[in-house]
Amino acid sequence: MSGNHLFGLIRKHMPGNPAEARFCELPDGRVYTYQDVLDVSGRFANVLVELGVKPGDRVAVQVPKSIEALMLYLGAVRAGAVFLPLNTAYTRNEIAYFLKDAEPAVFVADPKRADEMRDVAGECGVPQFETLGVWRKPGAGETDAGTGGTLAAAGLAASPGFTDVPRAKDDLAAILYTSGTTGRSKGAMLTHECLASNAEALVEHWQFTSEDVLIHGLPIFHTHGLFVATNTILLAGGSMIFLPGFNAETFIELLPRATSMMGVPTFYTRLLQRPELNHELVKNMRLFVSGSAPLSAETHKEWSERTGHAILERYGMTETNMNTSNPYDGERRPGTVGMALPGVSLRIANPETGEVLKQGDVGVIEVKGPNVFKGYWRNPEKTAEEFRGDRFFITGDLAFIDDDGYVHIVGRAKDLVISGGFNVYPAEVEAEIDALPGVAESAVIGLPHADFGEGVTAVVAPRPGADLSEESIRSALETALAKYKVPKRVFVVDSLPRNTMGKIQKNVLRETYKDTYSEDAA
Ligand code: AMP
Repeated sequence: MSGNHLFGLIRKHMPGNPAEARFCELPDGRVYTYQDVLDVSGRFANVLVELGVKPGDRVAVQVPKSIEALMLYLGAVRAGAVFLPLNTAYTRNEIAYFLKDAEPAVFVADPKRADEMRDVAGECGVPQFETLGVWRKPGAGETDAGTGGTLAAAGLAASPGFTDVPRAKDDLAAILYTSGTTGRSKGAMLTHECLASNAEALVEHWQFTSEDVLIHGLPIFHTHGLFVATNTILLAGGSMIFLPGFNAETFIELLPRATSMMGVPTFYTRLLQRPELNHELVKNMRLFVSGSAPLSAETHKEWSERTGHAILERYGMTETNMNTSNPYDGERRPGTVGMALPGVSLRIANPETGEVLKQGDVGVIEVKGPNVFKGYWRNPEKTAEEFRGDRFFITGDLAFIDDDGYVHIVGRAKDLVISGGFNVYPAEVEAEIDALPGVAESAVIGLPHADFGEGVTAVVAPRPGADLSEESIRSALETALAKYKVPKRVFVVDSLPRNTMGKIQKNVLRETYKDTYSEDAA
């Protein structure tokens, strides 16, 4: 084994003049160069080693988004540790579950929640507890690290120089827990190779260069903001405008200075609501990427009209990194997620038997490649269940491949509605509803129904000022869809429930409306 696989690659692609080359611009005016990346991640790596972190140990982190948190990720990778970021929304009880499951050597928390989280760490037997906020160098007359927490203070005292701990391709770089809408979250074990190979594929496929300026508004406890965005920029030697979160007004202000953006579909729908969005505003941009949830064909179309840019939609998940992408050069087909990325094998199979299906048939997406995770942390049974004998991973997403090779996702297998023995794919019905005038967005779910097994049900949010009714939507759909696909009930609501990654929470909707057909059952 020689070198640290992931960080070695980052070093290899580092700009030749790291002290001059910009890595991040922050909202408070600070600029991070690539030399700062080396120095600050080196300081954190030294601190982790001093705290007793050994290669393969987990470093669990629940802190607000900051450049410091990003440097801690790199410091952990350099120290040979396994970075374990946790959603900032997790409560004390949820954190206790993750700490017991992952048994980290260190837990790093938000300084604002220090007392509560120190207790949890203690109860779970975590040997070291630290905090990390925003680390700013002390100004004149100041002696502490501001609101940086204990880890920033230790980092200031540590050396910036660090010899990266050797790690092979197959060693773990991170564990990301799945969002777990059914059952408990599982820790996806991601190796150095998973992350490195995917970032290399994306740099090449999306043509990222050192000239790129990516506007970053995604959270960094999730694969999208942490790996897809950050690792890609690092391997391209490019830079980011690194924001604490998404805010349409700020994006409108900053888009003229960016060349690229990665977002979830809600970023795009919110920006479309801003009158300032036009060709002129984005004339410096070369690429808009969307993923983590389905982008409606309507949004894709509207975005093209308003900006002249076809959004590039891609598909991936925590366990696999990115699997497919629409082409960079070539048609970006609305409502599709494109083709398998170089190095990734993708097939559509019968969910029950695993038999590989022919082009055009709907089945479950299965993928294999260096991007795919090693398995679920300390859960060999679940790992075995979700891999076929030939190591293809069963994603749980249903899709078909069209004549030109584009993958069309029709929904999660668990969201499939079976009504009167017929399969109803939510994405197909949602696409029809979204195309109706006055509709902002929709979700189609199946609810218990005595006659049909499940009753197709739609929950629809109107555009501001639009007047939608159940009758008008149902009658419009009757001419567009076979009768068994037409929702038996349509609920018009102000907005749909979403998680922090912009995914519509269908489990919440199923719970809210679960008794809709109970009279039919009587
Ligand atoms: P996560 O592990 O949180 O990244 O969620 C992964 C899931 O998000 C996938 O299994 C898909 O169900 C969904 N997903 C990601 N990207 C897309 C996309 N472009 N279109 C539709 N669903 C997507």
